[in-house]
Amino acid sequence: MIQDLHSHTYYSFCGKDAPEAVAEAAIAGGIDLLGFTDHNYGIGFQRVEMFYMDPKNFEGQDYGRCLRRYFDHINLIKEKYAGRINILRGIEICTLEGRNLSLPENCDISFYDYCIIENLDCKDSITGGDLFTYAKKLGCYCGVAHTDLFAHAERIGVDPLDYFKRMADENIFWEMNVSYDSIHNYRQHQYVLDFFQSPEKQDIVRKSGVKVSVGFDGHRVEDYLPKRVAEYCNALTEIGIPMPFENDFN
Ligand SMILES: [Zn+2]
Ligand SMILES: [Zn+2]
Repeated sequence: MIQDLHSHTYYSFCGKDAPEAVAEAAIAGGIDLLGFTDHNYGIGFQRVEMFYMDPKNFEGQDYGRCLRRYFDHINLIKEKYAGRINILRGIEICTLEGRNLSLPENCDISFYDYCIIENLDCKDSITGGDLFTYAKKLGCYCGVAHTDLFAHAERIGVDPLDYFKRMADENIFWEMNVSYDSIHNYRQHQYVLDFFQSPEKQDIVRKSGVKVSVGFDGHRVEDYLPKRVAEYCNALTEIGIPMPFENDFN
């Protein structure tokens, strides 16, 4: 199955296109399963000006309703394209401390199909590097976005195999971020290149039973490379590593 579980639309401040344009680019590129994952703060604040306001001016009001409206919109997109592509209603959760970036404490995202957690390995992450406690609190099917988890496990002094096993046990997947776009200066993720060049690392991940996703992390459709996404999905299948949602759609 060719899946892309990481994409952005005009709901993200850094995104550009309507969800329809993103869905149509994915259909044209032969993607079977597409997940929308706009940034929580883009969805929650809707307007850049709101995002930069002093938090005291709005106290996070309406944030939860914005999360719901985004979900409802993506749900309409899912229905509109049913039969042509499978669509998932996801969200990318920023965990950086600092004004307005992370998800407000009282916000519910448990109704989303999944979320991807970012900045886990940053020193100002509100997770404090503790993926498991944070994921449990979110109450949603979780993945870890664009993070070198081998390096992270080492940093916190845990054997990578044990770390991935625990992720598998707690039903958390790991993203291979294969973005290659103008927004990120055509930068590739070193941890992804390392992983696909290292049979040892692949072995550890395979043994652990953790699922691995592929995400292009697209921000504008003119940069989208669905062939690249397909190549990485096929590579995972070839080395016997399962992807999330693989058995849910046929
Ligand atoms: Zn991200
Ligand atoms: Zn992203």
